[in-house]
Amino acid sequence: MTTHPFEATEDFARRADEADALRSFRDAFHFPPGADGKPLVYLAGNSLGLQPKNAARYVQEELEDWARLGVEGHHHGRHPWLHYHELVTGQAARMVGAKPQEVVVMNTLTVNLHLMMVSFYRPTKTRFKILVEGGAFPSDQYAVASQARFHGYDPREAILELKPRPGEETLRTEDILATLDQHGHEVALVMLGSVNYLTGQAFDIAAIARAAHAKGCFVGFDLAHGAGNLRLSLHDDGPDFAVWCSYKYLNGGPGSLAGVFVHERHARSRDIPRFEGWWGHDKATRFQMGPTFDPLPGAEGWQLSNPPILQLAALRASFELFDQAGMEALRAKSEKLTGYLEFLLERLPAGFVHIITPRDVKQRGAQLSLRFKGEAQGMLKRLSDAGIICDFRKPDIIRAAPAPLYCSFTDVYRFVRTLEAHARD
Ligand SMILES: *Cc1c(COP(=O)(O)O)cnc(C)c1O
Repeated sequence: MTTHPFEATEDFARRADEADALRSFRDAFHFPPGADGKPLVYLAGNSLGLQPKNAARYVQEELEDWARLGVEGHHHGRHPWLHYHELVTGQAARMVGAKPQEVVVMNTLTVNLHLMMVSFYRPTKTRFKILVEGGAFPSDQYAVASQARFHGYDPREAILELKPRPGEETLRTEDILATLDQHGHEVALVMLGSVNYLTGQAFDIAAIARAAHAKGCFVGFDLAHGAGNLRLSLHDDGPDFAVWCSYKYLNGGPGSLAGVFVHERHARSRDIPRFEGWWGHDKATRFQMGPTFDPLPGAEGWQLSNPPILQLAALRASFELFDQAGMEALRAKSEKLTGYLEFLLERLPAGFVHIITPRDVKQRGAQLSLRFKGEAQGMLKRLSDAGIICDFRKPDIIRAAPAPLYCSFTDVYRFVRTLEAHARD
């Protein structure tokens, strides 16, 4: 019999919060107030993370430097804009387990996904397929389908979708590997999420990358729901590329900049096609404004434009907090926090809620996806009346993600008690 370290009492939740070494990070964020003026229980950090209190100050500094210095801010600002994006590179690299040269923060997620596919989806007559997860985030589906069409292929033939077994909600790693074994020779690119936005399933990046490479495929991951959530080791796991946005778990603010990882093995290769822009050009000679593109080594060589400084300033505030907390400690707390959520949900009346996210901790992040009997939308309204923010995905799924940087065990307790009141009505 397994014994749980948890108890289904408010007192237990309070004690767990007191014992939480990361609890002070909660105070570094603005919590939107509920109708009663008390901070909301915010379980939607997988959709839009909360605002770090330092974000306003960091943005204000750049506005001041712009007012004070005009164009001189590029060189003489407190944080010269010419190199501003480099301020977040080390932090971003630590977050995803990469070397600094493998990472750059630029553009937005879907844009980066397209840029990476320009380089790593290079179909031939006999190898033109893209292997994706069925039910991927719509933007990713549109991106891969349009890339296939762009190269002259019919997406119905070019896109190969992984589907759960009949009666199951999530994919089995063995089935992903078996599909690669069987079809890998026709696959030009394997493009998967790292945590599926709907089911909350995390995939085994190392195993999938190894199997894809064994079959001669390129492999990339969309870490929109993985970055700042999972313990990632992109360099060691070895995918060719990864992309992620920074407004979900990474709290960069609405529409914030996205990340790109390009594995070191491609850092200096000159034969990879890419879309070029001046910010990807060698910085030592960029301002000679020569006619030929000479890329920076590593991920920076994929940059197109000089980046939006105000949005990067907000991002710095959040990345500093991630660096202070450390992904190792954050993930350890996250496993407990989501484990506690699971424990409490299991104690609700039988049949009321079904957790579709895998029960294996290694196959999930902070989020649990819950399927409700009856109408989930009414439930969402009831939760929001009680000051609890989750999100709803048609037809019947509520996603709850206790982000370990600012959510507490008491938040989780309040959420499940509110569900319970609904279950008993
Ligand atoms: C959030 C999310 C997106 C959003 O794309 P943007 O380009 O940032 O608007 C795309 N893909 C996945 C998997 C996501 O979770």
